[in-house]
Amino acid sequence: MENTPNTLRLEALRSRWTPELDALLVAGPENRRYLSGFTSRDDSFTETSGLLLTTRNRAFLLTDFRYVEWARQEAAGIEVVMYSQSLGTTLAGLLQDQGVRILGFEDAFLTYRQYQRLAQAVAEAGLAVEWRPAAGLVEGLRESKAPEEVAAIRRALALTEETLLEVAATLASGRTEAQVAWEIERRLREKGAEDLAFPPIVAAGPNSAQPHHHPGDYRLQEGEPIIIDLGARVNGYCADLTRTFILGPPDEQFRKIYGLVRRAQAQAEQGLRAGMDSRDADALARDLIAAQGYGEAFGHSLGHGVGLAIHEAPSLSPHKDRATTLLPGSIITVEPGIYLTGWGGVRLEDMALLHEDRAEVLTTLGFYEW
Ligand code: ZN
Ligand code: ZN
Repeated sequence: MENTPNTLRLEALRSRWTPELDALLVAGPENRRYLSGFTSRDDSFTETSGLLLTTRNRAFLLTDFRYVEWARQEAAGIEVVMYSQSLGTTLAGLLQDQGVRILGFEDAFLTYRQYQRLAQAVAEAGLAVEWRPAAGLVEGLRESKAPEEVAAIRRALALTEETLLEVAATLASGRTEAQVAWEIERRLREKGAEDLAFPPIVAAGPNSAQPHHHPGDYRLQEGEPIIIDLGARVNGYCADLTRTFILGPPDEQFRKIYGLVRRAQAQAEQGLRAGMDSRDADALARDLIAAQGYGEAFGHSLGHGVGLAIHEAPSLSPHKDRATTLLPGSIITVEPGIYLTGWGGVRLEDMALLHEDRAEVLTTLGFYEW
């Protein structure tokens, strides 16, 4: 097989397999893209534009008539197989040909119904295949970014920053959150983003106490916090950026909360590096916020990995069950926030690339000093 980026990634994947697996069935759209180059993003959770079956020495992309040409154009080094009657029957045939007995599958992505149908077809074909949940194999591989991935994220972030600067200049009393959100979408697209990384968050006044508020008819007003969180997608890769604004002179409360979130973020950015436990990373910001009595008001993780997916590994979470060691080459967000019901919130979000000895902040946009 030729040495395409796909074959290198497939090799890396195989080196991470538990020895028992004969093959892995990849269902996550970002995982499928990462390994095959096929850029389709499934429009709906319940419909797939293809499953990737990787054995120890071959890789097949199973897809249907609607996607087969597209897949053949993009999936270099992958054998594209079109199924016409049923995905299950075609999969069963391949499993038989390849002598697969233990099949890993992505339980985080394959729906229960898809799993049932596939397993039934395989059983009906008379094959004794053991299905084994194998979550996180490809996600783990995606965690450390290659130079071309870092470059795509930098481009996405540059478009995102330009857009936020322009939109910030249009903020005015009386404009609705939804109007500002549309302004963001339009400008991101016009600047060349292939898509939004996620629907923009514009949360004003009391709405800004909800970290993931959906922009609506609420009108911006002087003296109230406005959280704007946005991101472009370029070559499949996401950017993620948040700043908090206020129209007119800020009051004491805003100054105090804003200053605390900014200090917590700066402290985290200075202390972060690869090799750290994710809980220690989170604590860099959380301890400062908690010491000022706002621990309960910082109800989410300090940050998350960003890549082909807007939220991916690692999670900079305070929780033990999500603990992990941060890897060099990871791109993460650093986004402390304080949210007070009835008043509103402040969140500041940068992106950073982890090195052995430091975190390189990728975000170049400065801060509004209120
Ligand atoms: Zn964000
Ligand atoms: Zn984020």
